[in-house]
Amino acid sequence: MEEEKCIFCMIANKKVPSKEVYNDGMVMGVLDISPASKGHVIMIPKKHYNNIYEMPQEEFLQYISIARAVGYAILLSLAPDNVEMLYTKELTKGNVTPHALIHLIPRYSDDTVNHVWQPQKMEENDFTAIETAIKSAIEKVKEAETPKPEKKVFEEPKKPENTIKEEKPQININRKVVVF
Ligand SMILES: [Zn+2]
Repeated sequence: MEEEKCIFCMIANKKVPSKEVYNDGMVMGVLDISPASKGHVIMIPKKHYNNIYEMPQEEFLQYISIARAVGYAILLSLAPDNVEMLYTKELTKGNVTPHALIHLIPRYSDDTVNHVWQPQKMEENDFTAIETAIKSAIEKVKEAETPKPEKKVFEEPKKPENTIKEEKPQININRKVVVF
């Protein structure tokens, strides 16, 4: 989606009013207007990304760290049992969000939040194939996301100009040992 048409970009650019609880140069935290529970906050990166996987790793680490801090503030202020951090492309069933978001959803014993799925039956062969596919992809991700050093990491160690002579301990063989 184009940024001009993205509702979350509009919120971040203050073209649409919001109930802001957090704002810095990079991230905005606003109360969800259709909350799953009391104190449901959405953390909006100000820069448009279609999903969190498009974010550069460094930026994501900063983003998730802020989201965690705001989640902790919700925990302290509203005293829910827990605050879930949820990344999803679906705000509600079938309603796909165009912008990378993390939801902070406070959980209370009497809330109506419901994460339900039907457990799938899987054959052993399928598990093996999936395991192999993910493991091999992790290697590619590691390679892609590992920062490339600008200069050689391993440089030849310089030889010190004044090599310290190894001094052998002096043993005085003529030393008299007095035995009492
Ligand atoms: Zn956007």
